[in-house]
Amino acid sequence: MNSEEFRKRGKEMVDYIANYMDTIENRRVTPAIEPGYLKDLVPLEAPQKGEEWDDIMKDVEDKIMPGVTHWQHPRFHAYFPSGNSYPSILGDMLSDGIGCIGFSWAASPACTELETIVLDWIGKMVGLPEDFLSFTENSKGGGVIQGSASECVLVSLLAARAHKIRQLKKQHPFVEEGVLLSKMMAYCSKEAHSCVEKAAMMAFVKMRILEPDENQSLRGSTLQQVMEEDRAMGLIPFYVEATLGTTSCCSFDNLAEIGPVCEEYGAWLHVDGAYAGNSFICPELRGPMKGIEYASSFNFNPNKFMLTNFDCSLMWVKDRFRLTQALVVDPLYLQHSYSEKSIDYRTVIGCNDELDEDDNRR
Ligand SMILES: *Cc1c(COP(=O)(O)O)cnc(C)c1O
Repeated sequence: MNSEEFRKRGKEMVDYIANYMDTIENRRVTPAIEPGYLKDLVPLEAPQKGEEWDDIMKDVEDKIMPGVTHWQHPRFHAYFPSGNSYPSILGDMLSDGIGCIGFSWAASPACTELETIVLDWIGKMVGLPEDFLSFTENSKGGGVIQGSASECVLVSLLAARAHKIRQLKKQHPFVEEGVLLSKMMAYCSKEAHSCVEKAAMMAFVKMRILEPDENQSLRGSTLQQVMEEDRAMGLIPFYVEATLGTTSCCSFDNLAEIGPVCEEYGAWLHVDGAYAGNSFICPELRGPMKGIEYASSFNFNPNKFMLTNFDCSLMWVKDRFRLTQALVVDPLYLQHSYSEKSIDYRTVIGCNDELDEDDNRR
């Protein structure tokens, strides 16, 4: 396809999308097909010769659309709303056109700088404490876009795990990491999203799943008691996941109680506000954030509420070096001369600082 045809087909595609949106109510929300339906409609070998664009689009309408669940349908009430919008679609088009990959500042400076600035905007919008923002003076914190809340939870758990192992290594330099890890304990509520348990599984971390109270809220006293018991058994509490707006019933864990317990035990507190976190833009809805100052990290998904296409989960950390130290490797071909002054998002957030123990540098 050359640019001349792209202009023509691109305009047709915009019309196709606008028509789809304008008439979406006329479609079924869920497809009326059985598993394997597409195998009978599409050849099992890739075609040897490219096909005409018109034929491809006809296949989209006749073969693909009948198997689509229409998340943007006004009668779609499953899961969470997928927050599509025309500006979001246009943004995706532009980003596809530029087609750059911003793994480091040098790989495309505007990518990195815009991400940092907008994450500060949104952090301020939801009333995050200033130490989660990049441009606060002497701040070690900042925000990063992840693909999903599940990734935010996994990444925060990996960072907490690496940080605790570094701390323990100082006290027990001759004990192997694997042995230290076997003593470490993570915690979440029974109401936490399944991604928390999955993250623990992937990170080889033992996790206790705690009973919430009658309002499905995890309370500080429950956490305190279990951590005390674990400590008495020689285990080391190091990570707590609290949810603001749980998936099944939108309950809120009691951050104001949980926070001080995490502080007492030196545990990383990750707060997952995937869905309800969006609502904190309204100051009158911020009640459940009380205690957020105890969090090490926080995330929410604009793609669940804010007219932004999947995938977009925003994550802020109070100490970005704890995150980068867990995830940085530094091959020659990715190094660049501005790494002192810039953020390289390939290390999730932060810059190319050498691994070291001093957590108090900027
Ligand atoms: C939806 C949801 C998730 C998972 O979100 P993904 O971005 O799909 O990983 C995690 N936690 C909560 C509270 C959710 O509501």
